[in-house]
Amino acid sequence: MKLFDTDKPFFKGNLHCHTTNSDGKLTPEECKAFYRERGYDFLSITDHRKLSEETHMEDGMLVLCGMEMDYYLPGEVVHLVGVGLSQELNQHDVSRNMQSYIDLANRYDGRVIIAHPAWSLNTVTTLSGLHGLTAAEIYNSASTYPWNGDRADSSNVLDAAAAHGTFFNFVASDDSHWYNGEAGRSFTMVQADELTRESLFKAIDEGRFYCSQGPVIRQITVEDEQIHVECSEAERVIFYSNLPWANNRCVANSGMTEASYTAHPENGETFVRIQVMDKEGRSAWSNPILL
Ligand SMILES: [Zn+2]
Repeated sequence: MKLFDTDKPFFKGNLHCHTTNSDGKLTPEECKAFYRERGYDFLSITDHRKLSEETHMEDGMLVLCGMEMDYYLPGEVVHLVGVGLSQELNQHDVSRNMQSYIDLANRYDGRVIIAHPAWSLNTVTTLSGLHGLTAAEIYNSASTYPWNGDRADSSNVLDAAAAHGTFFNFVASDDSHWYNGEAGRSFTMVQADELTRESLFKAIDEGRFYCSQGPVIRQITVEDEQIHVECSEAERVIFYSNLPWANNRCVANSGMTEASYTAHPENGETFVRIQVMDKEGRSAWSNPILL
């Protein structure tokens, strides 16, 4: 089985950023121009507790209405990024609890992503208690030095959640605030029929996407226990799973454009996800492949 079609386009987007409508440095117009000039196909402006303008096409870029909500639990916070929402959500008080925001966002045309779980100190218990999420940020550009401590990479807690049976697909988002280095660092690539909210969400719901800081994942082929990835020139490919140890999971080969892994379902391996790293140290991440 091939995960991607051979003849459909990929669209590049950022699903998490802030403007002067909350604590971001650029106005919404400047923010859109920033991403448009860098070749992005879609963008969701997700200011804190404030819906951005209605979903529309603007100069060839799909602008998705969005909003980030924040919740406080003992020992952790939960930030939920809603994208592609309908403005009708405005009539509801979504501040009361996390699940009601997820449910309302889904009802009002949106999809909800849990932001930066590592930065938020989210636990597996919290992650597994939320229902109706579309994805989790495996990487958040703003959650690293010098803007934050280095908790940009959430793969550890997301792998732990998956090991306990809670699987998320992955996006990588900028969470842009300052636009002085964090913006434009990580993005999500969706293989959709066309650049509309409906088509994009259909592809996202079907898992036809990966996320990246630069490397390209061209194809992933799964045949029984054999997993094969085709990618742009890479230095390392790592096949992560719920197994703490697998002797064949690391492939190092300068300039390689493909790598393979034989999974071990007989040893209790339940999923595999692929991380491709290039010689600049930038990564691309696949969604988890369930065995
Ligand atoms: Zn944010």
